[in-house]
Amino acid sequence: MFGLFSNKKKENKKEQEQVENPEFLKLVAKWDVFLEKMETRFNESLVNAKEALLENLEESNYDINPTMTAWHGIKSQLMAMGNKVDTTFDEKVLPQMKAYKEHYDLLDEAAKGRHLREGVIFPKIDRFEIEMEGEVSQRFYNHAIQFLNENFNCTQCSAKIEVRKDIFRAHYVTCDYCNTVNTFTPNDKISQIRWIVDNIAKLKALNEWDAMQKAEKEFSDLRPPREGQDNAFYIAAFEKREKTSRAYWTKYFTERAVYLPEYAETIEHDTDVKMKWFYEERKRELGF
Ligand SMILES: [Zn+2]
Repeated sequence: MFGLFSNKKKENKKEQEQVENPEFLKLVAKWDVFLEKMETRFNESLVNAKEALLENLEESNYDINPTMTAWHGIKSQLMAMGNKVDTTFDEKVLPQMKAYKEHYDLLDEAAKGRHLREGVIFPKIDRFEIEMEGEVSQRFYNHAIQFLNENFNCTQCSAKIEVRKDIFRAHYVTCDYCNTVNTFTPNDKISQIRWIVDNIAKLKALNEWDAMQKAEKEFSDLRPPREGQDNAFYIAAFEKREKTSRAYWTKYFTERAVYLPEYAETIEHDTDVKMKWFYEERKRELGF
């Protein structure tokens, strides 16, 4: 039964294609090839970007600033590839196709480009940014943390003083032998650790981020319930967003506290602060 049905469908499709102008079909094929090439080129660019940036970090002797500046340059090139898809359709593909069809019959062709730009390229850049900044930051951290193991001696009695491995700013340390209060001043790299921990925490929460993005997408693809329609499906999707967002922020703040234990006590509070807009939206949209 099913086989019969699908054969029939295929035949119908064939018939439809036969009435299409072959010149038009050539344009469609050309447009498809272009999109495929752009996607391949984009994916290759991501791989190259990763290699180049990690090399940059090592070559600059772990000066993180030029690496981040280079990343911002690469990011705008990647974004430009997404925009190129749109302008190519508007300026080249559409005018040619319009020789055969009305604009409203070409919406499917336009949608292919929009999908590549908004459904593939831009979300991949967002995710890549987390991976990239996270990995650069992790490598920077591994390098910088060594300097905390360097000798630090008491100014009064010269005894070796142990420095805590989780305070990356200047702080007082009392000498165990003579009780003199010494000031530990970290070098630049150690003080920078505070600013990159955020990136490492985001990378560690990448699985939770993926789940949150998925729930966001599922929700935004839904059509809001009409007046009088059962809205249980809508609320369920909203709750999934809430659950995955909360899981993401909890994981993020927990990971941050691994490096900055001073924040360990505020994980729940910080998560609540991040979720506040979410509950405001729920009240506004769903009234509870
Ligand atoms: Zn001392």
